Amino acid sequence: MARTLKNKELINTRLATNYGGWMYCNKCNENIGYLCYATYDKLELNYKCNCGSEGSALLYFEDSKPGQDSENELIIIKNRLCCPKDNEPLITILDKKVGNYDLKITCKSCSNTYKKTIV
Ligand SMILES: [Zn+2]
Ligand SMILES: [Zn+2]
Repeated sequence: MARTLKNKELINTRLATNYGGWMYCNKCNENIGYLCYATYDKLELNYKCNCGSEGSALLYFEDSKPGQDSENELIIIKNRLCCPKDNEPLITILDKKVGNYDLKITCKSCSNTYKKTIV
């Protein structure tokens, strides 16, 4: 079932579909990652693309629940950052395309919020 976005702020960034799919840098048009649209509840991402452009994405839905900050780290399964609790695939950030990033993502199925910062 389609979800209703409550907030969507994309800066220098483009998404392939309304709230998921491939993510692109608007300056160089390179794909910088992939957002799994069915499994996240809220996304906050700030990054610096290799082209020098700084971009960000903030997305959440009408029915998003307030996330619970988790101390646990996202796990990587086949290049995808996944929830360590239920293995739900959440997002892929292509490290080779992005210099650094700051990610905060809430898993829809368990409402835990995970943070990952690469500097
Ligand atoms: Zn770029
Ligand atoms: Zn989860």
